[in-house]
Amino acid sequence: MNVMAEDKKTGVEDADGRMLIDGVRVAARSGKRSTLVNPSTGKSSMEVAYGDAEDIDAAVAVARGAFDSGIWSRARAEERAKILWRMADLIDANADALARADTEQMGMPFAFSKVMVGHAAEAFRYYAGWCTKIQGPSSDISGQEMMGFTYTRAEPVGVAGLIVPWNAPMLLTSWKIATSLAAGCTSVVKPSEETPLTALALAELLLEAGLPKGVVNVVTGGGEAGAHLAAHRDVDKISFTGSTATGRKIIQASAGNLKRVTLELGGKSPCVILADADLAKAVPAAAQAMYFNSGQVCTAGQRLFVQRPVYEQVVAEMVQIANGIKVGNPYDADTVMGPLVSGRQFGRVCELIESARKDGVTIRTGGEKVEGEGFFFRPTVMTEAGRDARVMREEIFGPAICIVPFDDPDTLLEEINDTEYGLSAYIWTRDIERAHRLAAQIQSGVVWINSGGLIDYRVPMGGFKASGWGRENGAKGLEAFLETKTVIVTL
Ligand code: NAD
Repeated sequence: MNVMAEDKKTGVEDADGRMLIDGVRVAARSGKRSTLVNPSTGKSSMEVAYGDAEDIDAAVAVARGAFDSGIWSRARAEERAKILWRMADLIDANADALARADTEQMGMPFAFSKVMVGHAAEAFRYYAGWCTKIQGPSSDISGQEMMGFTYTRAEPVGVAGLIVPWNAPMLLTSWKIATSLAAGCTSVVKPSEETPLTALALAELLLEAGLPKGVVNVVTGGGEAGAHLAAHRDVDKISFTGSTATGRKIIQASAGNLKRVTLELGGKSPCVILADADLAKAVPAAAQAMYFNSGQVCTAGQRLFVQRPVYEQVVAEMVQIANGIKVGNPYDADTVMGPLVSGRQFGRVCELIESARKDGVTIRTGGEKVEGEGFFFRPTVMTEAGRDARVMREEIFGPAICIVPFDDPDTLLEEINDTEYGLSAYIWTRDIERAHRLAAQIQSGVVWINSGGLIDYRVPMGGFKASGWGRENGAKGLEAFLETKTVIVTL
């Protein structure tokens, strides 16, 4: 693996910094490069090719050629499975280097980055299993006068554009690549400009695993490159994860050839703690659902609704947990929270907390930068946030929770659902009947009952309302990379 040197402490220092098209590392056609910044130090680390429309055109042409050649789209399912499985083993074998890449680029504590790498490998194994199980139904349509039958083919949708954000590059890029490959698609991956090295590393490993060149291509660059990919007439599908604002643009851009689009977008997830909940489990889990990855998680439980009898206790415990979280060097074993990904994201979080102060919200703890270099922000607990305060309505994507008391869970539903988002929700109670009733009424794609934010490649992931279109992962995720063809035969 030549993207990152195994024996280097920092991992990404040796990265080539060029994109990967048709199995070859190439510079941007314009010669442009962007500078990556290590968020733990705020200092520049290395330069990476900054691709634009021309590079996307080149990569799409290669992916189209590879798809039409049938080298992957018509390869035997067993062959596809073997390569995906080999890829999983290579990810495991390179776990440290891959984890370092995420940590260096976006600041996730190294121990958590390692966990993400493990999940990424398992996603490749899971979809390796699917390769030989893609089937369509058949039926007998014979009558007395005629013999006939129908069958259904599940065919790869074609060339897929995979557009990825920066907040969990290893996991999100692996999910998309593994699923699209299992279906038989070829692809152009457009990673986030903040975290381009992860996709490059994965693409290099895929070549090592035996994937034919040109099947997975990576164009590093920014929003213009992504926009060109979304509008490209030779691209048959866009699988996008990112903000709701960008998702809206992708829908418009994709209209030209009516390409298939799946969108995994933002969230403003509620977490509900009822008075009868096991608080010893619920409060730490709610804290984890908020502060994991410095709150830069689409499913973060940002609005914590607590039933009145236990409200003060939960606020006090949350403040205590927030104050005890070790924020700092992501390589220290006891670090729980690293920095925010970038100066831009840091500025956005600061601006939202400032708006909270103006909106009369009480900052119980945090609400400020950690002194020193890097983009570190203190875990923040807010109370007395009105329903219309910006921190109650907008995705913060930083380590800041709003805690709100309530009396009656049935009337709470209206407030829970009063958001444009619908990605996920958490319910904590010992009254399991009430939990299931709430789960049925909350408008969101995922609901966790008495469990904290576990995400699994086996089950569909995605959002209601402005949190997305379609689902990723599991069988549903695979379907999104397949077209259905009905064949009707009379004999
Ligand atoms: P973003 O929308 O700014 O960028 C995501 C990707 O889209 C990047 O690769 C970017 O370069 C590209 N892009 C930007 N403009 C584009 C355009 N006009 N056309 C096509 N591509 C374009 O999002 P971000 O800041 O990188 O990521 C954070 C967001 O992602 C948050 O809103 C978060 O909730 C969301 N997210 C959602 C999920 C989910 O599963 N629902 C998972 C992780 C993150």
